[in-house]
Amino acid sequence: MNVLVVNAGSSSLKYQLLDTDTREVFAKGNCERIGSEMGIFGHSENGGTKQTEEVPFPDHRSAIARVLEELEKTDFTIDGIGHRIVQGGWHFDDSAVVDDEVMAKILEVAPLAPLHNYGEAAAIEYCREKYPELPNVAVFDTSFHMTMPEVAYTYALPKDVCDKYHVRKYGAHGTSHRYVSARCAELMGKPIEELKLISCHMGNGSSICAIDGGKCVDTSMGFTPLVGLPMGTRCGDLDAGVIQFIMNKYGISIDEMLNILNKKSGVLGVSGVSSDFRDLDAAAAEGNDRAQLALDMFHYWVAKVVGSYVAAMNGVDAIIFTAGVGENSKSSRAAIAEYFGYLGVKIDPVANSKRGEDIMISTPDSKVKVFVIPTNEELVIARDTKAICG
Ligand code: ADP
Repeated sequence: MNVLVVNAGSSSLKYQLLDTDTREVFAKGNCERIGSEMGIFGHSENGGTKQTEEVPFPDHRSAIARVLEELEKTDFTIDGIGHRIVQGGWHFDDSAVVDDEVMAKILEVAPLAPLHNYGEAAAIEYCREKYPELPNVAVFDTSFHMTMPEVAYTYALPKDVCDKYHVRKYGAHGTSHRYVSARCAELMGKPIEELKLISCHMGNGSSICAIDGGKCVDTSMGFTPLVGLPMGTRCGDLDAGVIQFIMNKYGISIDEMLNILNKKSGVLGVSGVSSDFRDLDAAAAEGNDRAQLALDMFHYWVAKVVGSYVAAMNGVDAIIFTAGVGENSKSSRAAIAEYFGYLGVKIDPVANSKRGEDIMISTPDSKVKVFVIPTNEELVIARDTKAICG
């Protein structure tokens, strides 16, 4: 089945047209700077060079319209469209074929992820209008986390308030955690039902997930994707009292404060250098102490959260690294694994130097196994689309 996977972010829209059986990617590309005066459209076919052009994208509708227009120039067929949806709220514990009811639910929970769900919903709406005969499937980043027990997802706030407004931990990156944990079980040659896994999705945004018997039992992101680890530009866990203190000191609004917490904090805020781990590695190597501190804090937090999930699951069989930093930074993986001595983890430096493949980077006698597994959210979305309506 040929599935068009649409991944609409807050100001970007990525797409891939792929065959779910052969995994062949026929076309892919992205629309950047949606909502700005001028945007960039990139498109490539059959693994060829990406062609880019400047196009204004006032909104997500105009972006998906440009993508479909480009695909119509080709001979490729589309049998279904799979959409990544950041927030499914309390409604979705699985992927769903989009009908009017599903659409209404996606919009109902949109205030929980306003930067994402509205744009994603606009893209779905356009696809439904343009190709009414094609199925659209919504794949939610949060649905994998809906198996969390109440003890893990409940905030220690007045319960009536949380119940009334559905305030709880929802998590993020569920599609990635689902993919790499299933792949890890395959690589270990064991049924996932028998494994305790901890998946570390470390990219621009980062989250860690505890997966017991194939089911998420805890994750580090919360009601929003702001908490947990310090990230590229997001602060991660923070004493709420600091928010009021800084707002009073600078006389700023809550929106301005949230802008600082989302866009000017994390490793960028600590280092004052960059949100990109490659820049931090380079600066730290040149003796920049703040860049080194930002890296040290990130590694410490990953290790600390992993440790808490070992406690939550009463053990762990394997730890997985994935996403931009997890897949590419051997130095970050090595620094994090330094903390895992108590688990009997031993890293093989040769395996840890490899790139771009599913690989076990722990030694054969390591008590707990450690894997690098490149994530593939597009494939999960395409496969779900096929499974539901293929
Ligand atoms: P997103 O959360 O935007 O999907 P990605 O998973 O693509 O992010 O990760 C992007 C991040 O990966 C970059 O900001 C960069 O810090 C990191 N990264 C990519 N390549 C390397 C590398 N070779 N070494 C260290 N970090 C890297």
